Amino acid sequence: MIRANDIIEKVADYYPEANFDTIRKAYAYSAYAHRNQVRLSGEPYMIHPIEVANMLAEMKMDLASIAAGLLHDTLEDDPLTSIEDLSLRFGDEITSLVEGLTKISKIKFKSSREHQAENYRKMILAMVKDIRVLVIKLVDRIHNMRTLDFQKPERQEAIAQETLDIYAPLANRLGISWIKQELEDKSLRYLQPTIYHELEEKVARKELESREFIDNIIKLVQRNLEHNGIRGQVAGRLKHLYSIYRKMMRRNISFEQIYDIIAFRVLVADKAECYNVLGVIHALWRPVPSRFKDFISIPKVNMYQSLHTSVIGPDGRHVEFQIRTQEMHQIAEMGIAAHWHYKEGYQLDDHDRKQMDWLRQMIEWQQDVNNPGDFLDSVKIDLFSEAVYVFTPTGEVKELPSGSSPIDMAYSIHSNIGDHCSGAKVNGKLVPLRYQLKNGEMVEIVTSKRQHPNKDWLAFVKTSKARNKIRQWVKKEEERRSIELGRELCEKAFARLKLSFNQALKSGKIQAAAAEFSLNNAESLLSVIGRGKLSALQVINRIYPELREQDKAKAKEKKEESKAARKPARDGISIKDIDDVMVRFAKCCNPLPGDDVVGFITRGRGLTIHRRNCRHVNQGESERYMDVEWNLERSTSHSVKIRIMCEDVKGMLASLGTAISSMEANIASASLKTSIDHKAICFFEIEVKDLGHLRKVKQALRAVKGVYQVTRMS
Ligand code: MN
Repeated sequence: MIRANDIIEKVADYYPEANFDTIRKAYAYSAYAHRNQVRLSGEPYMIHPIEVANMLAEMKMDLASIAAGLLHDTLEDDPLTSIEDLSLRFGDEITSLVEGLTKISKIKFKSSREHQAENYRKMILAMVKDIRVLVIKLVDRIHNMRTLDFQKPERQEAIAQETLDIYAPLANRLGISWIKQELEDKSLRYLQPTIYHELEEKVARKELESREFIDNIIKLVQRNLEHNGIRGQVAGRLKHLYSIYRKMMRRNISFEQIYDIIAFRVLVADKAECYNVLGVIHALWRPVPSRFKDFISIPKVNMYQSLHTSVIGPDGRHVEFQIRTQEMHQIAEMGIAAHWHYKEGYQLDDHDRKQMDWLRQMIEWQQDVNNPGDFLDSVKIDLFSEAVYVFTPTGEVKELPSGSSPIDMAYSIHSNIGDHCSGAKVNGKLVPLRYQLKNGEMVEIVTSKRQHPNKDWLAFVKTSKARNKIRQWVKKEEERRSIELGRELCEKAFARLKLSFNQALKSGKIQAAAAEFSLNNAESLLSVIGRGKLSALQVINRIYPELREQDKAKAKEKKEESKAARKPARDGISIKDIDDVMVRFAKCCNPLPGDDVVGFITRGRGLTIHRRNCRHVNQGESERYMDVEWNLERSTSHSVKIRIMCEDVKGMLASLGTAISSMEANIASASLKTSIDHKAICFFEIEVKDLGHLRKVKQALRAVKGVYQVTRMS
């Protein structure tokens, strides 16, 4: 078993001034916390955190990371370990690393489909505030993969798939290629054991066969470098198994058909020499033009830098070269970890280390490379806050702009779901539609056939998809209502002149009239009428000019009559963008100016105004409702029914009548019913101007002696 001192020795190599007590303390704490645990291999559990810490020391990570590596499973496995306890003993920096690791270990990856993987990776990045958490997590996964043999086969497969889908690409994003390659190869071994072992054998044989070929090339390149005064190290090796496997799968070819299995690497002192080496190699062999890539001028998003070239080497075999400096090589192997090492090396004192602001360092580093866009793309850490990641009930991950609502989520699943989204549950609890989703929440969308998009939704949706779909729907809906209203108005106007609108429609007369008004079809004409831009009578006059000539006077009279008939009813209500609409007030609820009202498009009778809380509202098709508003300046009287519960005493009806009249309201009818217990119920139908007027009347009635209750009826 690796001892605390073995780890300390490694750290002392690159950071001699470190406070090694931290490592000793973390080692002892972890050993105690895991004292009763055994790994599936039968070994003490402690082996695992020690191996993780040891690898972190080999990667030259900082003390906090190594201590966190030792402690990474204590919070989860030991019931006596708490965040408070850890932070008391080890401070906030180490504790927050352990906390972050515990949080990641709790993410359940239910689905491993390809397109999910990217979202999961992003979610991890979004949730992790400190990139060191990811580095430790990857090392943790390496050790778990190295000891996967002890798991049951189905667990092996699940863990390997998760590793391949999530952690290997994550390692790639962070540029830690040795971790990426080992994770990929180990995953393949458990996911495709037959293929893996076959490939392993073939690669070993190929290596043996190619030994001489490789050595010859190394010698040749080395000699030519020296000849040109360049000091460089040349090495040749076979590519890792998974990259070969992936190439075979992608191009659907056999192992034998892959020509670039061997890669050569030349390491030199500085950047300028890289290009010199390129010249030397191209002078030796003819390059394959499309295969040259300059990742020195344009680094990969994970900061990888190198020159890549393929040449047609000895025996016409393709040979691939990677040319880079020592420092670039460190970054290629260690990615973010290497960078950290360079920036945070042992030259810094302990105080500086404590002041280390990992994020700031990362950002500064990227600014050196003057491509902040790439940085945002590759290491999104906290800067990821512009996105929120939520789960569907089936475990799918959805990426949405931060501040998104359940409506956005619904539309991101399917337009149809968005169009009928009537509610949402977040982690099982109902939330309002304008709720702002948070990272990691499980969101279940509730739909209803009768639900439709609402203009109000536009105030809080964040995604352009939701916005566009809602707008589309609202527009379509307005058009449909206008057509319907236009049809109502026409039917009515035709009927008044004893004409049949339907016949005119069937015979094509309406279509012809539409053309005369430069409109495409009958529907457009109806829509224009519905919007009040054209009157039904204008259309009738166009269709039946003879009627206009013969019956001009009569028509005029009718027109005025119809105007007069409509005017009073129309009074008091304004409908957006529509002027010429017949309006009636519903008898069922007798709306008063000031009531919350809604218009209902009826067949043949224009628009009926209901109170919004009327029991008849929301019973029909909701698309027949439209928003209307009171025009309080134009007030006429409206009738309303009230019920009064009172004592059955002489002269009660008269007292009530006086109270109503004193408030300047007309009484249309009154009746009284008595009951056996000397109680009476009076019914009045009165005329009031608006809701405020009614309120005053009710107040006056309540002031009458013997009155218990005054209720408006509808
Ligand atoms: Mn672990």
